[in-house]
Amino acid sequence: MIKTKAYAAQTAASLLAPYEFQRRAPGADDVQIEILYCGVCHSDLHTARGEWKGTQFPCVPGHEIVGRVVAVGSQVDKFKVGDLAGVGCMVDSCGHCHSCAEGEEQYCENGFTGTYNGPMFGGENTYGGYSQTIVVKQSFVLHIRHAEADLASVAPLLCAGITTWSPLRHWGAGPGKQVGIVGLGGLGHMGVKLAHAMGTHVTLFTTSPGKVEDGKRLGADRVCVSTDPAQMAALANHFDLIINTVAAPHNLDAFLGLLKLDGTMTLVGAPAEPHPSPGVFNLIFKRRSLAGSLIGGIRETQEMLDFCAEHGIVSDIEMIPMDYINTAYERMLKNDVKYRFVIDLATLG
Ligand code: NAP
Ligand code: ZN
Repeated sequence: MIKTKAYAAQTAASLLAPYEFQRRAPGADDVQIEILYCGVCHSDLHTARGEWKGTQFPCVPGHEIVGRVVAVGSQVDKFKVGDLAGVGCMVDSCGHCHSCAEGEEQYCENGFTGTYNGPMFGGENTYGGYSQTIVVKQSFVLHIRHAEADLASVAPLLCAGITTWSPLRHWGAGPGKQVGIVGLGGLGHMGVKLAHAMGTHVTLFTTSPGKVEDGKRLGADRVCVSTDPAQMAALANHFDLIINTVAAPHNLDAFLGLLKLDGTMTLVGAPAEPHPSPGVFNLIFKRRSLAGSLIGGIRETQEMLDFCAEHGIVSDIEMIPMDYINTAYERMLKNDVKYRFVIDLATLG
């Protein structure tokens, strides 16, 4: 067993604080990674505070993990000691259902194992990346091909990157397509960068007028302040695809009306309380679809990481020490992060 220092929430109401637990020693098919950096996803906050129900405590969040391989099991052939490696939102799945066979482990019919709070679908609790080290079977570990100097900024690709990449690919973003991204937070800023790199025309929707210039710098061709009815009305019937990353309930009709015939809005934001139900006519009159999308499969995550390495794409981050995490959560709730907090695990001590 490996004694591991971490930060955990002991209850939904408690702040995150130092915690120590044991990781399993690497088995034949396992890779052990010394965690160097871990991104802070809004899902960490939802889970640590029990907002989605079903949180198993103590809860050690963190699923945007990057670091260095420090040990490998006897049957590991994809990694060697010293490699840079990443772990995203999943550490296992059943491996034999239709979704797993298709490389879409996130839709595993028997429930994938989350990197933290694994018992969402049964089984033992799992502890995430707000910790010194992690042991994961090799098929759920990703290769990092970016320069080592970029490592901290690569961490958010493991969730924010893949969660926006997957729907952009699934719904065919690319040249000639009009794509909207709603919300300029961790997911949204990666959505803007990735959609831009795919050659699609990107419109950012933000509630924060102070983010307009940043939106353009990140790659948006157009920025619409979504609280301004005139700017919204000008974009009616305009979009092939809208990816909605907002972490709070809001009026979906305001965005559905911006889709063209057969357009789709896919929800990736996962608020604790439901959105008000959208109007039926907004959907049926233009055969519009309202959809959802969950992270992405392992193969697809590797494709996204390789694409980002090739195109020089990383996240815009603010590096924080581990003991800043509770302040970071409060700032995230105020939309005050540009655009992802990343924990430097060397500060765990
Ligand atoms: P984040 O960094 O907090 O960004 C969310 C953004 O939404 C904010 O920056 C803000 O952008 C906008 N926003 C927040 N409150 C709003 C409100 N009341 N009305 C309108 N806009 C609001 O969060 P994140 O880490 O990107 O995560 C976003 C959501 O996605 C979370 O619910 C998270 O759990 C979920 N998530 C889902 C998946 C998946 O697989 N589907 C994966 C990861 C995360 P502006 O200031 O630009 O308006
Ligand atoms: Zn996440």
